[in-house]
Amino acid sequence: MTRHIAVIGSGVTGISSALLLLRAGHRVTIIAKDFPAPFETIDPITQINYTSPWGGAHNRWVPPHPSNAQAVFEHPLSITTFSHMKSLFASHPTTAGITFLKGVEYLESPGPEYLSLTPATAASLQLSGFRLLPQSEFPDQKVKWGCEYETYCVNPMVYLSFLLRRFVHRGGRVLKHALRSPVEVFALSERSTPSLKNGGVDAVVNASGFGFGGDGNMFITRGQTVLVAEECDATVTRQNADGSWTFCVPRGFEGGTVIGGTKEVDDWGVEPRPETREKLLRMFKGTCPRILNGKGEFTVMGDIVGRRPSRRGGPRIEGEVLEGGKGFVMHAYGLGGRGYELSWGVAERVVEGVEGYFRALRGESKI
Ligand SMILES: Cc1cc2nc3c(=O)[nH]c(=O)nc-3n(C[C@H](O)[C@H](O)[C@H](O)COP(=O)(O)OP(=O)(O)OC[C@H]3O[C@@H](n4cnc5c(N)ncnc54)[C@H](O)[C@@H]3O)c2cc1C
Repeated sequence: MTRHIAVIGSGVTGISSALLLLRAGHRVTIIAKDFPAPFETIDPITQINYTSPWGGAHNRWVPPHPSNAQAVFEHPLSITTFSHMKSLFASHPTTAGITFLKGVEYLESPGPEYLSLTPATAASLQLSGFRLLPQSEFPDQKVKWGCEYETYCVNPMVYLSFLLRRFVHRGGRVLKHALRSPVEVFALSERSTPSLKNGGVDAVVNASGFGFGGDGNMFITRGQTVLVAEECDATVTRQNADGSWTFCVPRGFEGGTVIGGTKEVDDWGVEPRPETREKLLRMFKGTCPRILNGKGEFTVMGDIVGRRPSRRGGPRIEGEVLEGGKGFVMHAYGLGGRGYELSWGVAERVVEGVEGYFRALRGESKI
């Protein structure tokens, strides 16, 4: 039986989930206050809470060491996402906004999760193209450990516009609307909201990035990066001894390269800080001088400030039956700094959660 599902959110989590729900045979409407648009038109102040445009965005493996429960939970999601990205790239190499390339890592203070990585353990974790780098390939003597692997980057607004267009082409509907609560969606009708064309919504997916304010585990992690015109042939990540990170993420599709980046917990600052820009560029220059222009400099296009929707304990991916059986909300928010690289894995869990609810309604299983 075809059901009508409303997905709140048109970031990477919402659109990926909406596409897989459509593929599972449901009618799907995306409801959101922000939608993908050319990156140059996204407003850095009024749309700062729409995180997806401000992401890098690349896939950087986080080894699922037993000491890190969140990484263990997330690793299968990243593997699922990798294979979806690979097939999208294979079918749409010039239009999907995805680039497959080498990922290079340099660590100054590697933890046990890195030191235990060998070609054999990496293969068992399904990391393709993994190679430990010899010291002769490190940029300087502060680096103690390095590796490379096969990975991908996306140009966020090219990629999400592609996915949204695909969603609409396959019959999905969109509604621009700011909601107060996921519950509000159940009150929308065809009369009040003609684009719903349904007479009711059977389930709601909450892919709102940050949730709706009632989750005490949520917090923001500010990220400032710099967009430069130079292209890089790899995504390069360096962990500095003080715990900070230096990285580059080529966006491809004439979108320049992102040089990053900060991770500032509970920092609501909207304006880019010039001293941060200067530090990010200086640190990356030393790590990867081959990307500099003929004058040995970067060609700066602008600064980026975003807010990662972080959550203590990891993302919330679970169903909730509303009190009195008033409806079902599948939560998928709190993706922090990994929304892109976990997106298709999360979307698959969303479909499982929603279909589990419908099976329970038919008396075929428990929720
Ligand atoms: C500097 C920086 C670098 C990053 N780099 C990477 C990276 O390299 N790789 C990676 O995987 N991730 C990266 N991230 C993280 C990634 O960008 C996020 O995890 C991801 O964008 C979250 O997507 P989302 O769809 O969950 O939320 P969002 O993109 O925030 O989308 C939320 C959606 O919900 C809608 N919404 C919210 N509230 C309401 C409401 N009340 N009513 C209606 N609609 C509503 C919004 O309009 C929007 O459409 C980075 C983030 C930053 C800031």
